[in-house]
Amino acid sequence: MKKIYLDNAATTRVDPEVFKAMQPYFSDFYGNPSSVHSFGHEAKKALESARLIAAGFINSDPQEIIFTGSGTESDNMAIKGIAFANHEKGNHIITSAIEHHAVLESCHSLEKSGFEVSYVPADPDGIVNLKELKKAIKKSTVLISVMHANNEIGTIQPVSEIGQIARSNNIYFHIDAVQTFGHLKIDVEDIGADLLSASAHKLYGPKGVGLIYVRRGTKINPLINGGSQENNMRASTQNVPGIVGFGKAIELASRNMEKEAILQTKLRDRLIDGVIATIDRSYLNGDRFKRLPNNASFSFDFIEGEGILLGLDMKGIAASSGSACSSGSMEPSHVLKSIGMANQLARGSVRFSLGRFNTREEIAYTLEVLVEIIDKLRKISPLTK
Ligand code: PLP
Repeated sequence: MKKIYLDNAATTRVDPEVFKAMQPYFSDFYGNPSSVHSFGHEAKKALESARLIAAGFINSDPQEIIFTGSGTESDNMAIKGIAFANHEKGNHIITSAIEHHAVLESCHSLEKSGFEVSYVPADPDGIVNLKELKKAIKKSTVLISVMHANNEIGTIQPVSEIGQIARSNNIYFHIDAVQTFGHLKIDVEDIGADLLSASAHKLYGPKGVGLIYVRRGTKINPLINGGSQENNMRASTQNVPGIVGFGKAIELASRNMEKEAILQTKLRDRLIDGVIATIDRSYLNGDRFKRLPNNASFSFDFIEGEGILLGLDMKGIAASSGSACSSGSMEPSHVLKSIGMANQLARGSVRFSLGRFNTREEIAYTLEVLVEIIDKLRKISPLTK
């Protein structure tokens, strides 16, 4: 059976060029970048070259890039690192209700340590409400953290406007760019971001490698203590092959990103238009236009997303749902809930996220299969009776 991967927001296949670039750093250039001998120098050179590529990609300086172990770690560092380093100035943080768990759980853990967090709602189109965000600002606010694009419904947030709001109130601004880094153009100066998180495995790089951009002069504590790696900001021997792969993945993205966005938008729109036109009571989640080029997230009345996923998987198609199975019942995602979607409809949500390796034929086949599955499931659904 042919397999079709439409879950690129969860992770991507490592690009063959990335894999090739990483290989020598396992077997030939395996030194510790902190070592003084030639093995160390070779590893250090590769590390700094990846740092230079990453910095240029977002219009920052290499000294402002810290390599981490994941997007989750970068988010944790941005939020906890700013909160603890600036608690004398204030103990209040603003974020949105539709953030990834890496941000939300970091905030929850700070609340347990006495910090105050405001969770700004998003509108039904999946865009964070700026009026509410402005209203949430207090004298004690030290950080605003809002994602660049939502991982479930793909909506792109007004980060430049938020950057201006943060700047004019003298508040640090962190953007979780895990879903956009390598897919959309990012300029930290234009956006006015002080901190930014990214993760290699979302752009055809390896898993377990992330980065955080920290604007020079930002008062922030490290999350991991130990050696003096990463300019004293992230102790641990660096994952050299992983970072080399990240650098290569960024290089490929800077070359191909615009072309790929055009191609993926075309495929995405075929899928969206096809689903809405052929499947009764199907709805696109999130704004039709302010969305990632690769994201098509739907809700279907009367059926559960998990059932659709199983049906798709049996036909070789990988997608994901916006629900999480907790204690035997399907709990709709916090994102769909917070944009005001009814539980029944939110349970019937499915996310297709396209990538570099998808084709028109794959999208046509997926649409065909999806129509059949939904028809079958609705015939047996007690909700349609
Ligand atoms: N933030 C967002 C928006 C994400 O989509 C993800 C991963 O799905 C993360 C953070 C966490 O990244 P990682 O998987 O590298 O820990």
